[in-house]
Amino acid sequence: MTDSFLKEAWADHSRLWEKNIWVYPVISRRAKGLSIGVNLNPDKHCSFSCVYCQVDRSIPGPTNALDIDALTQELELIIQEYQKNGLTSFGHFKEIDQSKRQIKDISLSGDGESTLVPEFAAVCERLLEIQKKYSQYPLKLTLITNSTRLDQERVREGLRFLTELNGEIWAKLDAGSEEWFQKVNVSPYSLNKVQQNIELTVRDFPTRIQSMWCQVDGMLPSSEEIDLYVKRVKAIYKCSPENLLEVQLYSVVRYTACPNVLPVPEEFLQEVALKLAAEIPTPTGIY
Ligand code: SF4
Repeated sequence: MTDSFLKEAWADHSRLWEKNIWVYPVISRRAKGLSIGVNLNPDKHCSFSCVYCQVDRSIPGPTNALDIDALTQELELIIQEYQKNGLTSFGHFKEIDQSKRQIKDISLSGDGESTLVPEFAAVCERLLEIQKKYSQYPLKLTLITNSTRLDQERVREGLRFLTELNGEIWAKLDAGSEEWFQKVNVSPYSLNKVQQNIELTVRDFPTRIQSMWCQVDGMLPSSEEIDLYVKRVKAIYKCSPENLLEVQLYSVVRYTACPNVLPVPEEFLQEVALKLAAEIPTPTGIY
């Protein structure tokens, strides 16, 4: 497969997979292969309104009540299709080199924040069952979260299911100052609350920090912003050095719902990585 085709596949993160409501397959840079996404928020409900979000909330999403059995059927249909033909019967997948569409993970990641859903723990329990049922694949369970609800007991119950085998929490931290946080993530929650929740989580569960850096309205995050961010990551690291697996640095590559949001230069991400490396030994990846 050509690089341009792979980029197209990465960009093709439409949740509307065939007739499924909650489950979709995607070739993921993050997972380095095929990731099965579970979208618990087709209604696009989120506790952030990130300026770089690719979900267009001007068009309301479907409001189907979550049906865990139906979700399981959708998930198993995709796994079984993968078993039969590597998903080559679907869309772009047949064009992608087989080595780049190996099944890697089941990821709770959708059009909103998964942990807002009341059935979150029950879904995680079901995903663990699926992980055990298809143990011939190295399926990792991953939660991609904005961290706003990680302190709730019903969410932590879900995290225990999710991480029973080799699951991980991928927590968003995009800022060092409250001001930049509100500019980029736009939330009724504070950045301090987000940091506290990640600290609480890393004490008990394997965690990666995901940080999206972008230019907003022509403004790059300042050098002071990066320093404040590094300070927060260091505080999280100190809570449990062994459980903080990685810090992932990103910039925007896809369409964003909000105009005036642009990628940062590669050198910017390298500067952040260097500043992190000077403070903590946790690996940093630029994606
Ligand atoms: S947390 Fe995710 S889904 Fe929610 S607004 Fe931000 S990017 Fe979009």
